[in-house]
Amino acid sequence: MTVFLVTAILFSIDARYHTFDEVAYELDSIAQQYPAITHLDTIGYTTTDSLPIFALKISDNAHVDEDEPAILYVACHHAEEILGIEICMYMIDDLLMRQAQDSLVRHWIDNREIWFVPLLNADGHGVVMTGIDTIWRKNKRDNNNNGIFDIDFDGVDLNRNYNFHWTTGGSGDPSSEYYRGAATFSENETRALRDLSVAHNFAFCITYHSARTGLGEVIYFPWNAAGYFPPDYFFIREIADTLSKLIINDQGNAHYLALPGAGYDGRTRNWMYGVLNIFTYCVEVSTTTIQPGWMVDDICERNRVGAYYLLERTEQGGITGCIYDSLTGEPISAEIIVHDYYDATLPARKSDAQYGRFLRMLAAGDYDIEVRKPGYATKYISDINVSDTVLTEFDIQLSQMEYTLPVSAGNQLSLAPNPASNVIRISTDQQSFSSLKVFDCTGRFVKQFNYPTIQQSNYVVWDCTDEKNRKIAQGIYYVVGESGENLVTRKVVFVK
Ligand SMILES: [Zn+2]
Repeated sequence: MTVFLVTAILFSIDARYHTFDEVAYELDSIAQQYPAITHLDTIGYTTTDSLPIFALKISDNAHVDEDEPAILYVACHHAEEILGIEICMYMIDDLLMRQAQDSLVRHWIDNREIWFVPLLNADGHGVVMTGIDTIWRKNKRDNNNNGIFDIDFDGVDLNRNYNFHWTTGGSGDPSSEYYRGAATFSENETRALRDLSVAHNFAFCITYHSARTGLGEVIYFPWNAAGYFPPDYFFIREIADTLSKLIINDQGNAHYLALPGAGYDGRTRNWMYGVLNIFTYCVEVSTTTIQPGWMVDDICERNRVGAYYLLERTEQGGITGCIYDSLTGEPISAEIIVHDYYDATLPARKSDAQYGRFLRMLAAGDYDIEVRKPGYATKYISDINVSDTVLTEFDIQLSQMEYTLPVSAGNQLSLAPNPASNVIRISTDQQSFSSLKVFDCTGRFVKQFNYPTIQQSNYVVWDCTDEKNRKIAQGIYYVVGESGENLVTRKVVFVK
């Protein structure tokens, strides 16, 4: 209690900084004022106080998930690092104010999906803003389950809670400021950001922080883990260098620095890149966490310039296109592997399932790629030329791999029509099959018809549903007649 009184008296946060209520009110007003180009979403509720975690998307047709590169700006993993909130709110205002007159801003809004999560750790932020503890870092997780918020024992460091080499980062001690939590993604806040990131396949992310002490005005990117650099290091660093040069420091005599982050652990940037292949930059804003109110607008304005570069960069230097099934034309989510820039210990970047869209940022040069998906023949494309001004665009067709089943001679099984689009009549010219089984092109079991059904009429009408009576997907299927050791296989194509 003594601590509470002393800090409250010694330090009050400048009114220039947003409270939670002000963030909520402003985002809500903005969503009402710009209903066509903003989409306000609650992506979860905070762990302890159940406050909504807001995400605001700015884009044309904002309520639709369009086939456009998505970029995420997130702030306040750490409660006291409140400058990032201001930068996000400032950029939201700036984009919306300028979109009517500024053709470049309009271009971004029409061709990007720009997402902001301005206040991830609203619980911890409340601890700071109410003056209970103005250097509070974590959320308010009740680690000792006593129903009371103890500043000496409670809270999880959200930026150590992600599922990427989780045990190597932070601390296992709940009283530590760096407590990584009881499990990966144990906190509502990190789960909310995880789910948003998985859903939107972001090309880039900036996560805003500030250093209480030590080096500020730095951009950390993944990673230098004792000499182990990630496969995209070269591209990530090049972009970090450009980004950092665009943000002038508080003194006005230099720009931010770009450095590979030393941690190879459950931090946001490592998980974002290491698991989802999102190029993620941790911007340590300014030289300390809470600057005087008069400095805030200027800090935001200088950071805005760098942040917007990522909106530009998504249409420069890289490869993009859509991946389709060569038979059905359906978009598919497949892995894009760039030769020499691939590490088998990390998941590869995938095209999104909805549009089959891939977007892979690269530096100017020639590249060989490989496109993979289980059940499909791997596709190799060589000598793709990438410039540093525009994206190299091409679509990719993947062919379903034909599963090889043992085939015996004989003509005892026929399928009609083939291709089929509604029902398939499976006829047998001898009543010797104990069962008919259907498999898809990957060899996965789909459906089975047993002896009595077949015996009745010498044929089975298959309504193209699976075991659970769901209509099957378009593709190649195999019908296998079983008669003791003897198997007879026929192929059928199903198109809708
Ligand atoms: Zn931080």
